[in-house]
Amino acid sequence: MIPFLDLGAAYRELKQQIDDAVARVLDSGFYILGPEVEAFEAEWAAYCGSKFAVGLANGLDALTLALRALDIGPGDEVIVPSNTYIATWLAVSGVGAIPVPVEPDPATHNIDPTLIEAAITLRTRAVLPVHLYGQPADLDSIIEIAGRHGLRVIEDAAQAHGAAYKGQRLGGHGDIVCWSFYPGKNLGALGDAGAVTTNDADLAARVAMLRNYGSREKYFNEEPGVNSRLDPVQAAVLRVKLKALDDWTERRRAIAVDYLEGLKDSSLILPHVPDWADPVWHLFVVRTTMRAEMQAHLAEAKIGTLIHYPIPPHMQGAYADLCLKAEAFPIARRLAQEVLSLPMGPQLDRSLVKNRVIPEILRAC
Ligand SMILES: *Cc1c(COP(=O)(O)O)cnc(C)c1O
Repeated sequence: MIPFLDLGAAYRELKQQIDDAVARVLDSGFYILGPEVEAFEAEWAAYCGSKFAVGLANGLDALTLALRALDIGPGDEVIVPSNTYIATWLAVSGVGAIPVPVEPDPATHNIDPTLIEAAITLRTRAVLPVHLYGQPADLDSIIEIAGRHGLRVIEDAAQAHGAAYKGQRLGGHGDIVCWSFYPGKNLGALGDAGAVTTNDADLAARVAMLRNYGSREKYFNEEPGVNSRLDPVQAAVLRVKLKALDDWTERRRAIAVDYLEGLKDSSLILPHVPDWADPVWHLFVVRTTMRAEMQAHLAEAKIGTLIHYPIPPHMQGAYADLCLKAEAFPIARRLAQEVLSLPMGPQLDRSLVKNRVIPEILRAC
């Protein structure tokens, strides 16, 4: 069996260091925030090339608290990609604002900057690009449009740890950048975890306050905050895994090269990488109109695949009240019908990709 992703293998590779890190937290007596969380925040900010990082409970909270820290709420509109994981939209609607979808460039799967201006209204407050599948969105174009219209830029980088845009790592381009360390992400904890990074000291301080009951000083609550603190056990695990991240990204890149080379003459539509992008291949997503057949053939050959994502947010029951027509966003809809994610991960054996996965795909084409 070649699984889509093997999280147990990732743990086993670093088992001794992770076990030691967890034991260190247990022995420390600090079980909420404290030195381990602060150390991870400093290391993550440095890695991203941004001034501040604030550790949070998960990626959805990172998006939610970023929006709240920018005072975005009821009556506001936020531009989001029409094709993304639903968390991006849920954060916007969760603070009472309206997600306004913009279609992607089908070649990159990322929001098409040339379509953003047409979606801006007097109520628009922010643009929320997603670096989908680990490939950076076209940030300069997005930031330029946002600047001209007085909008904030909030990045959903939940799939793009270590990815670079025009040679600079993600983490400090927009006003605030939101991260998830869900176990399956490129930098994944052993449970839920998340963070924001920003170069804005006030924004960082506001998120840090909001995550801790709206309190800067114990028992003084300035705002109705939430409990969304990064767990120190997870912070300790993330510190171990952060040291391995670049190596693990290189292994993903090697597999991506194998796929791109091995499948170049197939009937599949392969990922397109713009020349300014250094993607980190959170997912390796191909497109085919014969997806069901391809997936069944690979399952038969004991090769795991997944679909990211089968139903675009505007067609989900969760957004029935927005009354968006299925055919209003035809690119998102078509991508949802055609995308297929191939096995990808740092612990995936390259020889299995070359000798089993690629030949099986070619056989099914
Ligand atoms: C994983 C993910 C999130 C949410 O992260 P959680 O930690 O699961 O809350 C948000 N946006 C995107 C694009 C994601 O992939």
